[in-house]
Amino acid sequence: MLEGYVPYPEQDVKYYRAKGYWKDITIGDTLVQAAARLPFREALVGTSPVLGEVRDTYAELLAKVDRLALHLLRLGVKPGERALFQLPNIPEFIYLYYALQQIGAIPVMSQAAFRRREMDYLCEHTEATVYACQDHFRNFDYTVLASELQTNSPSLRIVLIAGNHVGPGQVSMGELLTTPVKDEEMQRHLLVKMRPNPDDVAVFQLSGGTTGLPKVIPRTHNAYLCCSEAAAKVGCFNKDTVFLAATPLPHNFTITSPGIHGAVLYGSKIVLPVSPAPDKIFQLVEQEKVTYMPGVPAMLISWMNYPELSRFDTSSLQVIISGGSKLNEKVAGEVESRLGVKLQQTLGMAEGLNTFTRLDDPVEVFTRTVGRPLLQDDEIRIVDDHGDDVPAGEMGELWTRGPYTIRGYYRAEEHNRRAFSPDGFYKTGDMVSLDPSGNLIVEGRKKDLINRGGEKISAEEIENLILSHPKIVNTAVVSMPDPVLGEKLCAYVQLKPETKLELSELRSFLTSKQIAPFKLPERMEVIDEFPLTAVGKISKKYLREDIAAKLIAETNIN
Ligand code: AMP
Repeated sequence: MLEGYVPYPEQDVKYYRAKGYWKDITIGDTLVQAAARLPFREALVGTSPVLGEVRDTYAELLAKVDRLALHLLRLGVKPGERALFQLPNIPEFIYLYYALQQIGAIPVMSQAAFRRREMDYLCEHTEATVYACQDHFRNFDYTVLASELQTNSPSLRIVLIAGNHVGPGQVSMGELLTTPVKDEEMQRHLLVKMRPNPDDVAVFQLSGGTTGLPKVIPRTHNAYLCCSEAAAKVGCFNKDTVFLAATPLPHNFTITSPGIHGAVLYGSKIVLPVSPAPDKIFQLVEQEKVTYMPGVPAMLISWMNYPELSRFDTSSLQVIISGGSKLNEKVAGEVESRLGVKLQQTLGMAEGLNTFTRLDDPVEVFTRTVGRPLLQDDEIRIVDDHGDDVPAGEMGELWTRGPYTIRGYYRAEEHNRRAFSPDGFYKTGDMVSLDPSGNLIVEGRKKDLINRGGEKISAEEIENLILSHPKIVNTAVVSMPDPVLGEKLCAYVQLKPETKLELSELRSFLTSKQIAPFKLPERMEVIDEFPLTAVGKISKKYLREDIAAKLIAETNIN
C-alpha cells in the first residue's frame, strides 16, 4: 500500500464489497471492457495540438492508450509513480490518464492555471516522476515552466509535451502516439500483467486547500468508480449518451460526476471542447449531437445569455448538470426555458460525497436544492460547532462518510486530525440544511476559501503572500459577490504609515510570486484598523458585509 495513504477500515471494506459498491475493477478495466463490447462506437472527439481533429472509436482509443502505456514503461515509469498533469481539454489528457491507469501509475490532477509556486509544491509533495503539459496554452509557455521544474525537482525524470515545441530533454507526446513500440500487438497483451489492484490509489485529486496549498486526495479504483457508476445511473447514462466535457478535465466534477468515467463505463461518446465559450459549445452540441454536459454556474449564465443561441440546433441536448459552486435559484429556474434542457444539480467534492437532484424531481427540488446523496450508504450528518447534530431543518456543517469518501488526505497526518472526526467522517466545511423534501440546501461555508466560479482559493495562502509585501502591515482576504462568478477575491489591507498602494501594484507583486492567475485579488480595500471578533480575530463576516454593501452602493450610483 502506498505510504501516506489512509485506508478504509477493514469492516467497511467488507461491507462495501458485500453491498456491491466496490466491484473490484480498475479504471483501466472499464476502457478495456468498453473497447471489447463496443469496438466501433465513437469514443472520443477533440482537437489535439499535434494530431489535429481526433475522432477515435473505443478500439482506436484503447490502442492509443496502450501504445502510450508501453512507451511509458519503456521510458522507465513504474507502478505507483506519480504524473503531474497540466493538460487542458485535449485528447492527450484522456490518452495519458488511461495509459497511466493501465500500468498502475497515478495521475495528479493539477490545473493548467497553476504556476511555478503550486507546481513546485506538488512536485515535491507527490515526488512526481512525470510531468505533462501542452507547450502553449492561454498565452503561457509551459515548456519554460517544465524546464524550471526539471531543474528544481530531483524526482522529475520525464517531461511529456503535447505540442510542437519540445525542448531538450523533453518528450513529444505526438511522437509517442504515432510511433509503434517494438512488437506492439504482443506487448499489449503483456499489459494485463501490469493491472493494478482495485484497492490501489488510482488518482490524486486536489482539494481547494483551506490552509495554504492544496491537499492531495488519494482516490482508489474501487472508491472512485463507485462514485462514477452511481452518478452515471442518476444521470441516466447509456451507450447513446454524448457527453461534452465543458468543465476543465482535471476537476473531480468532469472526471467522475458522472464525467469521463461515467461515459467510459457506458461506452458513451466523449466530446472535448477547445473552450467553454458559448459559440464553441453550441457548435459542438449541434455537430456531435451532445446529450449531457456539465457546467459551473458561471458557464450556465454565459450560455443562457448567448444572443446567437438560436443559430444552433441544440435539440439533442437533454441535461445540463450544474456544480462546483452555488447556482442562484432564479437562474436555476430559467435554465429549462432558456436552454431547452433539463437541469440537474450536484454538490460534489474531490474528497468524495456527491449529492444529485434526480431527473424526475419536481421543479422546486431541482431549482432550490443540490439533491441528495448518490447512495444509501453515503452517511451524512449536519452538525453544530461541537459536532452535535442540529435539529431537523436547521443549518449546520455537513459531515460525511461512505464508500467513496476518503478517510484521510495523502501525507497529511496533522491536518487529517482536524479534517476528519475520530470515527472517519470528513468535515466538509460546507454549511447546509436539510429541506423537508430530504434534499440538501447549501447555505454557506465554514472553511476560509473563496469559490471563484468553481475555482477554490485559500484565503490563508493569499494572505501569507500579501503579508510579505514591504508596504503591508496586515491583511484579510474575503469573497465579494459577483453576478456571474458567484464570488471574487477582495483583499483588505492595512498599510505602513505614509505609504500608498494600488491594486495593480499588489497584483504585480503577487504575480511575481508565480501563483495561478485566478488567485489574484480583483479589488483592494485599504483599511486603517481591522474589525475584530469577540475573541480578537479579524472579523471576516464584517468585511464580507462591508464589501457587499459597497458594491450595492456603487451599482446604485452608476
Ligand atoms: P472541489 O473539491 O474543488 O470540487 O470543491 C468542492 C467544494 O465546492 C464543496 O465542498 C463546496 O464548497 C463547493 N461546491 C461544489 N458544488 C457546489 C454546489 N452545487 N453549491 C455550492 N457549493 C458547491
